[in-house]
Amino acid sequence: MRVLIVEDDPILQDSLARAIRAAGYATDLAMDGEAALSLLRAGGFDLVILDLGLPRLDGLQVLSRHRAAGHLTPVLILTARDGVEDRVKGLDLGADDYLTKPFSLAELEARARALLRRGQGGSPHLTCGALDYDTVGRRASVAGEALELSQREVSVLESLLFRQGKVVSKDQLIESLCGYGEEVSANAIEVYMHRLRRKLEPAGVTIRTLRGLGYLMDKI
Ligand code: CA
Repeated sequence: MRVLIVEDDPILQDSLARAIRAAGYATDLAMDGEAALSLLRAGGFDLVILDLGLPRLDGLQVLSRHRAAGHLTPVLILTARDGVEDRVKGLDLGADDYLTKPFSLAELEARARALLRRGQGGSPHLTCGALDYDTVGRRASVAGEALELSQREVSVLESLLFRQGKVVSKDQLIESLCGYGEEVSANAIEVYMHRLRRKLEPAGVTIRTLRGLGYLMDKI
């Protein structure tokens, strides 16, 4: 699967690209609207992550031209906190979802996966034991009962759930929790883990600690 990332802030572009590659997808990068359109014309993308404030041709123009050319590739737009109008315009022009800056990389990964899965005709739900997780609404439930989780706990849960049966290192968790400009300590991860374990127990889900390696989510 191939993801086109269109973002003119080089630091943000780099962290987006690293998160998407870590999730197992190939990436192509564009720094301005014209470069994005010429890559899109060549085709072959399963998802486009599109910043709206771009030089040469803004994100909304890229989106409208891309859709006008008849392309159905899912598009996730990145908008500024105060960009409500842009967000509405973007969705009207055919964007599939949006993220408001600043966002955590875990949230980006979750939205990207949901769109990629939808593009493949798959379900946006993930399960483990009796736990059901809606990757679009970012809601966890057990037998129809919603679990009360903080934003951070949801991010940790997503990281573990997306790699079910595989070990996730503490560094990966820290990286996925860091929106840019935010810091997360290793101790904080242990606190989230402790709370999550308690909340997930009724679902028959366990998070094992593998010393020196990381954490692994599995059915009890
Ligand atoms: Ca920008």
